[in-house]
Amino acid sequence: MKGDTEVDGYTWRFPPSGGPRVPGVPGPRDARTDCPLVKAANSRGRVPPGPAACLAPARETAAVDHRVKSVSLPSAAALESFGRRHRHTLLVAAVALLAGTGITAVAVAPLAPDAALLPQRMLVETVAPPELDRQLEALAAMELTLTRSEITRGTDSADSLFTRLGVRDAEAAAFLRSDAEARKAITGRGGKLVQVETSADGFLQQLVARWPSEQEGLARTHFTRLTMSRGADGRWVSGTETAAYGVATRLASGTVSATLFGATDAAGVPDAVALQLADIFSTDIDFHRELRRGDTFSVVYESLTADGQPVPWNEGAGRVLAAEFVNAGRVHHAVWFQRPDGRGGYYGADGRSLRRSFLASPMEFSRVTSGFAMRFHPVLQRQRRHLGVDYGAPVGTPVRTVADGTVVFSGWQNGYGKVIEIDHGNGRNTLYAHLSRQDVRKGQRIQQGQRVGAVGMTGMTTGPHLHFEFRINGAHQDPLRIARGAEPVMLDAASRPQFDEVVRSVRTKLELAESQLRVAATRP
Ligand SMILES: [Zn+2]
Repeated sequence: MKGDTEVDGYTWRFPPSGGPRVPGVPGPRDARTDCPLVKAANSRGRVPPGPAACLAPARETAAVDHRVKSVSLPSAAALESFGRRHRHTLLVAAVALLAGTGITAVAVAPLAPDAALLPQRMLVETVAPPELDRQLEALAAMELTLTRSEITRGTDSADSLFTRLGVRDAEAAAFLRSDAEARKAITGRGGKLVQVETSADGFLQQLVARWPSEQEGLARTHFTRLTMSRGADGRWVSGTETAAYGVATRLASGTVSATLFGATDAAGVPDAVALQLADIFSTDIDFHRELRRGDTFSVVYESLTADGQPVPWNEGAGRVLAAEFVNAGRVHHAVWFQRPDGRGGYYGADGRSLRRSFLASPMEFSRVTSGFAMRFHPVLQRQRRHLGVDYGAPVGTPVRTVADGTVVFSGWQNGYGKVIEIDHGNGRNTLYAHLSRQDVRKGQRIQQGQRVGAVGMTGMTTGPHLHFEFRINGAHQDPLRIARGAEPVMLDAASRPQFDEVVRSVRTKLELAESQLRVAATRP
C-alpha cells in the first residue's frame, strides 16, 4: 500500500515506504531510526533509549486510528454576541457540537479487517457546517421547553420527584408541598404518571399528573387529571378534573400448560386481564382445581391511554370485553354488555348472565394460595370427614359473603375460633371460620361480595386459612356445585337485539385471536 487512498470520502494517507506494521514489531525500516526519542537523543549527543521506549507509544496507539474533524465555527465575535443574547441556548448548542465531534471520532472501525494492522496517522479535516449562525438563532427563537415524565413512588416528596424530573424551581416545589390539590400528586399511593414542562434551566412551566379515578364506579373508565400551572398574574394555580380514558382493543390467545398466570404471561396478557378472566368464569371453572393442560383461551380486552399516553398502571389494561375459555373440552363464553339502564355484566352468548345468586368462592382468586375440599385434619390427628372447603391465604386477607343474606352468628365457637354464619333464605346457610376479625354483627343485612371479615388462625388450626361451609337445611354441600346449580339470570328481552349485535361483533374478534393461536401452534 502506497500513497493516498480515497475511502468513504476521506483521504487515507499511508506511509510512503515500508509495509503495514504490526504493533510492537518493527517494519522493514528500523523503527528506531524513526523514533523521535532516538532522534532527540542523537541530536543532543546523548545515549539513545532502548528499543522498548520507542515501541511503547506505538503499542498504545496502535489499535485506534485517530481521525478528528475540526469544525469551522462562526467568528468569535459572532458567538460572543450570540451568547450575550441567548445565554442558556448557547450551552445546549455547544453540547450538540461536542456530541457531533464525538460521533465522528468513533466512526472509524469497520474499514479494515483489523484496525490494529493499519498504519498510524492523524487526519485532520475541515468541515464547514451549513450556516451555523442561523441554526443557533432558530434554536433560540424556539424558547426551548423540555418535557419529562416520571412515575411517582409511595415515598416521594416534592423534592425527590422534582429531582428525578430535572426540575430546579423552589417556588414551584413549595406550591406542590402546600397546595391542597397539587399535593395529591405526591400523597397517597405511588404509581401516578407525572409530566412536566420546564425551561432549559429547570424552571417549571407546567405539571400534569394522572392516576386512576377514585370515584365510585369510574375506576375502569376514567382517570383523574391534576394540572398545576401559572395563572395570568404569574402565581401558581392547580385544579383536578375527571376524564375518560382513550380506548383501543387488543386480542390475545393462549394455551395452558400449568397455571392460568403462566399461560397469560406467555401470551403477553396483563395480570389485570388474567384476574378478570378468573373472576368472570369463577362459577364455571375452578382455576385452582380444574385447569387442564391444553385448555385454551381467547380474549378481547381494552387497552387504555390517558390524554394519548399509555397508562402505566395495571399494565394499561382496561375491561375484558369478551372471552372464550375451553376447559377440559367444554367451551365457555363471556361477553360484556351494558344494559340501557347503564348497569353492565358478563353474559354467555345465549344471553345467560354469568353472575349467579351464589359466588363459587368466598375469596378473590388472586388471594388464595391453595384450595381443597378434603384433607387430613392435623390438629385432631386422625382422618375425618372434612365438611367444608379450606382456602390457604395470609392472615388479614378479605373474606366476602357468597350471596345476599342476614348475619345469624358472629362470635366465637370451639374449634372454629372467630366465626360468622349467614342465612341466605330457603334453608341455605354459609359459615366462615378461623377468622382474625369479624366486620359484621348479628342481625345485619349483607349483599353478595360484601366483606364480612378477614382470614386468621383462630380456633383449632395449625396455619392461617379460611374454613368455609355451605349447608342446606343443615346438610353440608359442595359450594362450587351450589354456585353452578344456582338459577342463572337471563338478559331481558328488550335488550336482546342490541346484545346480539355485540355478540356478533366480538365473535369476529375472538375468531381472529383463535386463528392467530392456530398459526402460532403450527410454527416449528
Ligand atoms: Zn377446614
